[in-house]
Amino acid sequence: MIWDTVHETMPRPELEKLQLERLQAKVRQVYQKVPFYRQALQEKNLGPESIRSLADLARIPFTSKQDFRDNYPFGLLAVPREEVVRIHASSGTTGKPVVVGYTRTDVEIWAEVMARTLAMGGVTHDDVIQNCYGYGLFTGGLGIHYGAERLGATVIPASVGNTKRQLMLMADLNTTVLTCTPSYSLIIAENAAEMGIDLRDTSLRVGFFGAEPWTYAMREEIEQKLGILALDIYGLTEIIGPGVAQECPHKQGMHIFEDHFLAEVIDPQTGEPLPYGEEGELVFTTLTKEALPVLRFRTRDITSLNPDPCPCGRTTVRMQKVRGRTDDMLIIRGVNVFPSQIETVLLQVEGVEPQYLIIVDRQHHLDDLEIWLEVSPEVFSDEMRGLERLEQQVRRELESVLGISARVKLVEPRSIERTEGKAKRVIDRRLM
Ligand code: ADP
Ligand code: ZN
Repeated sequence: MIWDTVHETMPRPELEKLQLERLQAKVRQVYQKVPFYRQALQEKNLGPESIRSLADLARIPFTSKQDFRDNYPFGLLAVPREEVVRIHASSGTTGKPVVVGYTRTDVEIWAEVMARTLAMGGVTHDDVIQNCYGYGLFTGGLGIHYGAERLGATVIPASVGNTKRQLMLMADLNTTVLTCTPSYSLIIAENAAEMGIDLRDTSLRVGFFGAEPWTYAMREEIEQKLGILALDIYGLTEIIGPGVAQECPHKQGMHIFEDHFLAEVIDPQTGEPLPYGEEGELVFTTLTKEALPVLRFRTRDITSLNPDPCPCGRTTVRMQKVRGRTDDMLIIRGVNVFPSQIETVLLQVEGVEPQYLIIVDRQHHLDDLEIWLEVSPEVFSDEMRGLERLEQQVRRELESVLGISARVKLVEPRSIERTEGKAKRVIDRRLM
């Protein structure tokens, strides 16, 4: 179902016209109201009248996470604090959290884009949504919640944790939709198995998983273990929270809600915009946000954009699955490695569970990569030789795909610590 046919299926020339009008209005607003942007624009000899086409966007300087931190907490607000009705903060995966504010209209827009998001996965007012994103300062919980209510679905504000109770609610309330991080969906699956519940026999039908990078291999694991359609949901606090982009059931990338969020991909080294299809750093400009409009925010997320028509009928540009963050990239013995590449290799090996830890260290002045990997109980109780064979196989696959050698340590089922929020899968001891 398409929630907002007008904006989600708009012919691209019309959409671009709307984007330009909104961009011009936003640049005018921040130039007048936010000293940080006025100064940044003036330094480039730009004013509101400088934006005559969407191509002029490339002349506007970038905004970074550091700029949010430097202006902590309210320095980037474009409205008086009294007009802010809600505060959220980023999860602080990479440092001091970023604080953001919403006007009443911003909260409305957020509910709208979240309703679009859920509808894209086929959710209607007939559904029961168990929302296991954290409620609180994190945008995930309340973002999904308002969208679900806007859609008219029944929402269970379960938040994250207390997994046994989650399973009880799921069974008793006939939950059809699950929203949580991909890593938490696996914790739910593990607990279900422990309690003798086969999730494939429940009413659960579709899940919206995001807030952290995950691979297609991980999707297969989740779909198989939970017996559902697993869709990718993308968003970030600085831009609005969840509701920036969503994958439709055709699974060909995530549709960006371009009437609100203008996307670009740039070369992270030079800052130059890249053409469609080329991979680089994703950059967003908000077109409608009132309290905290953002010009050219560098997300540090690596992806590419695809404007081709989608079989679902939407005309909005799609972003490919996020490969990782620029600051997640590990340089091991000079080779660039994203944790997602490692995950893809690991999960393709039979008998391996989707739980792993990447440990990077420096030994005798050389980078050292070690991977701890959980195996299924059947494999673990197998004779030593079987384990050794599996270890070798994983090592070989990693070497052929990544081009670097790694030590592989197969560990007992359930021995790697689980995190209920965003997964922590990399320990880089070189930084300690
Ligand atoms: P933090 O930057 O502190 O983690 P947020 O909670 O705002 O703050 O998280 C936003 C970030 O989470 C994104 O920039 C991206 O790196 C990651 N993220 C969100 N959704 C996805 C997704 N579907 N796939 C990969 N990464 C995602
Ligand atoms: Zn589509």
